[in-house]
Amino acid sequence: KPSASVFATHALRVDSPQRTMSDQAFVTLATNDSYAKGAMVLGQSLRNHHTTRKLVVLIGPHVAEPCREVLRSVFDEVCVVDLMDSGDAAHLALMKRPDLGVTFTKLHCWTLTQYSKCVFMDADTMVLSNVDELFEKEELSAAPDPGWPDCFNSGVFVFRPSNETHEKLVAFCGENGSFDGGDQGVLNSYFNTWATADISKHLPFIYNLSSIAIYSYLPAFKQYGHSAKVVHFLGKVKPWNYSYDAERGEVRGHSLSPDEGHLHSDYLLMWWQLYAKSVVPLLQKAYGDTPFN
Ligand code: UDP
Ligand code: MN
Repeated sequence: KPSASVFATHALRVDSPQRTMSDQAFVTLATNDSYAKGAMVLGQSLRNHHTTRKLVVLIGPHVAEPCREVLRSVFDEVCVVDLMDSGDAAHLALMKRPDLGVTFTKLHCWTLTQYSKCVFMDADTMVLSNVDELFEKEELSAAPDPGWPDCFNSGVFVFRPSNETHEKLVAFCGENGSFDGGDQGVLNSYFNTWATADISKHLPFIYNLSSIAIYSYLPAFKQYGHSAKVVHFLGKVKPWNYSYDAERGEVRGHSLSPDEGHLHSDYLLMWWQLYAKSVVPLLQKAYGDTPFN
């Protein structure tokens, strides 16, 4: 009869890779039903590429119940984060800078201390392949911003949940605000050695390829674009602002800006194909006879 210690060693060996996976998560954020659609597509894209990590979505109190239902079926965890309840420091700072509401909500990802390491991804991103290797990176790893490459883009970043870091970030936010009014400004000011300290924290651009970069440096896109792993629909017009002709398989422009035709990229089509195939059926089920758009 084998001794108990043999079992223990065996159990540990079998157990530990599993544990590594379940204490790591991809995290996104949706404060409203529009961004929730983005989160659904992102979550579904991560599932389609067989991530072994948990999927977490932070939602605002205004996300409708049918949307929550869909999010619950795609994500392992749906956490409702209430802006005004997110602590005294946050509350006070919010009074001064109500425009930073969304910023505070994103910073809330640091409170997910049931996980040892996470990768945050904006709800307007989508993965094109498995990106689990991102968990080999340390806090704070991110890709350069296409507009100012000495800043990182906060649409995709690796972080370690910690209540201490969360408190420091919120305090920092209250004292200094954000130079761009959003989370990216705060995070770049707080993690201000990113540009120079450690090149291993610079994620390759293929982990956060924004559509803007495609047009600002087309030859580079032609050379390297095929290895893109994450696309980011950065900017004012999001994929869900367009409409999709499912029969013809075409994305149609939206009424707000008719000259944004150049944004009709293949990635936009891929977003809509995934949305139509995997998300719309879930939304139809959740909404029943009530129309949604
Ligand atoms: N976000 C949200 N609700 C909002 C605005 C932003 O939930 O009203 C979240 C969402 O995850 C989004 C992220 O914050 O992807 C950053 O905002 P956005 O992607 O619009 O900024 P951009 O990448 O265009 O600079
Ligand atoms: Mn974004």
